[in-house]
Amino acid sequence: MSKPKIAIFDFACCEGCQLQIVNLEEEILDLLGVADVVEWREAMSEQSDEYDIAIIEGSITREEDGERLKKIRSRAKVLIALGACATIGGVNKLKNNFDLDEVKKCVYGADAEKPHLATSMTKAVHEVVDVDFKIHGCPIDRKEFTYVVRSLLMGKTPEIPDYPVCVECKAAGNICRWEYGEVCLGPIIRAGCGARCPSSGFRCFGCRGYVDNPNVDAAKEVIEKYNLSVEDLKEKMILFGSKQEPTIYE
Ligand code: SF4
Ligand code: SF4
Ligand code: SF4
Repeated sequence: MSKPKIAIFDFACCEGCQLQIVNLEEEILDLLGVADVVEWREAMSEQSDEYDIAIIEGSITREEDGERLKKIRSRAKVLIALGACATIGGVNKLKNNFDLDEVKKCVYGADAEKPHLATSMTKAVHEVVDVDFKIHGCPIDRKEFTYVVRSLLMGKTPEIPDYPVCVECKAAGNICRWEYGEVCLGPIIRAGCGARCPSSGFRCFGCRGYVDNPNVDAAKEVIEKYNLSVEDLKEKMILFGSKQEPTIYE
């Protein structure tokens, strides 16, 4: 039986999530034993239009990228969005808070109207094509990547946590960042990172996106308990939560 074919593609991003895959080192070799990587610009020169699993890093910020993504989708049996840029639009969606022409002038100055610098409002991958699985985070967690890909190669459906970071944070025995006067987004953000930031002394910035049904009322209770307002929370949600679905506190 032939091995499943995997192709990895990048759109607007810093390529940090692909770097996480490169850093898998020996585990990559294990994966190569059971699957063929047929296209991956960051690591090889070969290209192919035939693949079973397409892994998409980055968000869609140009009209032509949307068309490219649709072609990839039409060829792939399974499509995975890789990292926050792809799953929620990531930091690239900050742009959507401003007038597009102003943003272009700010970044490109006098060259803003050159055709090769054309840009559009940022979209996450699922806002352009159907996405089968999402690997969250900025950057992704290497173990989670391996788990998702291995599960798919074994014909299993990977289980991605749909509960808040607070669950993992409490289990880790951390003192809540709110006790330090910090606005932590853990109550509304999807777990799976092992509460990486609170466990390292930082608040959660929200890189894994919201849980499917964020408990907005519970988060409000936390805010009130610490004499802060929804505005304080919204301010912290801008980095990864700009124009993200579901829209909350709007
Ligand atoms: S999710 Fe973060 S690390 Fe990954 S490509 Fe986007 S900006 Fe880079
Ligand atoms: S709010 Fe943040 S620091 Fe507090 S328990 Fe939740 S994840 Fe941990
Ligand atoms: S704690 Fe929050 S910001 Fe940090 S990795 Fe986890 S989801 Fe991302």
